[in-house]
Amino acid sequence: MNYNIAVLDGDGIGPEICAGALLVLDKIGQKYRHIFNFSHYLIGGAAIDECGCPLPEKTIKGCLESDSVLLGAVGGYKWDNLSGDARPEKGLLGIRKAMGLYSNIRPAKLWKSLAGASPLKPEIVEKGVEITIVRELTGGIYFGKRTSGEEDGVQFATDEEKYTVPEIERIMRVACELSKKRSKRIASVDKANVLETSRLWRKTVHEFAEKYYPDITVEDVLVDNMAMQIVKDPTRFDVVVTSNLFGDILSDEAAQVTGSIGMLASSSLGDGTRGLYEPIHGSAPDIAGKDIANPIATILAAAMMLRDSFNLIEEYNAVERAIKKVLDSGYRTADIYEEGMKKVGCAQMARLIAENI
Ligand code: NAD
Repeated sequence: MNYNIAVLDGDGIGPEICAGALLVLDKIGQKYRHIFNFSHYLIGGAAIDECGCPLPEKTIKGCLESDSVLLGAVGGYKWDNLSGDARPEKGLLGIRKAMGLYSNIRPAKLWKSLAGASPLKPEIVEKGVEITIVRELTGGIYFGKRTSGEEDGVQFATDEEKYTVPEIERIMRVACELSKKRSKRIASVDKANVLETSRLWRKTVHEFAEKYYPDITVEDVLVDNMAMQIVKDPTRFDVVVTSNLFGDILSDEAAQVTGSIGMLASSSLGDGTRGLYEPIHGSAPDIAGKDIANPIATILAAAMMLRDSFNLIEEYNAVERAIKKVLDSGYRTADIYEEGMKKVGCAQMARLIAENI
């Protein structure tokens, strides 16, 4: 098969980590007989320098014409003093909107060979942690009506949480599609004992799963309980689906459990199969250009693209297996280095992973 991938290298370590991911994709292409065509487009600070805005029209067009999009990261000291719409980060929000992406998927995986990096006790994480949080991205309290004012001499503010059935159903569809390739277990997180929106959420996710994905089991977990379970017994969860607000908080908590920002990827999806795949970290300007960044988060983002946009499950597994092999052999970039391990740079880590495909 032939796949057209738009690559948005961005700023800082963006070009280095994307180069690593493309090397791995090329190796997957050779082994499994796919052709990946890469087209690079500007975004963020690099686009500001070249075209005067963080998201040029050419980039939007290129992404919309592609089969999927890989992003490095945007931002850096050079553009820190720009304000509002002129900032590199605006490019990121803009491309998500232009592509109609309404779900954010963040797997928090703790690799057994990196268990020491987790802040949790070894006996809690020894079975391995792999929680994938599917967060609704464009609705809920972050986009609800806001008011503020004064009543009887007392200042007040309100933020409205509103969800519609179609909004809940479309995020549930994303969770179910992911889950059917995995354990077929979904934990739906809400606060249905208090919130009306959560009661609608709970009713809708069950009705949707029963109707369209009858072999998937949906468990309800209250958000306060979920916050506890992520540190107490994270190994029992697989796919977790939740609202914008709860997902924002829980995905950071779950990421922290794995202990390393350089190892975590995320994707944003809308209707259809085209997505935006990226590492969860930023452009790390402090280490840019030194060949010491960890490329694994971006390599995992590319692997997620293979699985979730192109339905290439075996190819996804091959990337994961290669990463595991390299880590088990003791190779580490500086951010995950421990005494006695073999320290490698960004390019060499990517080469080792590609060689192990
Ligand atoms: P950051 O994630 O870039 O860096 C935080 C720390 O983690 C730094 O010490 C950095 O060196 C380290 N780090 C990050 N990624 C690493 C990797 N792959 N390998 C090794 N170490 C890594 O966050 P920050 O410093 O707060 O932000 C830097 C810039 O990135 C800012 O301009 C910010 O706005 C931007 N940013 C962009 C995104 C994005 O593009 N999605 C996300 C967050 C921050």
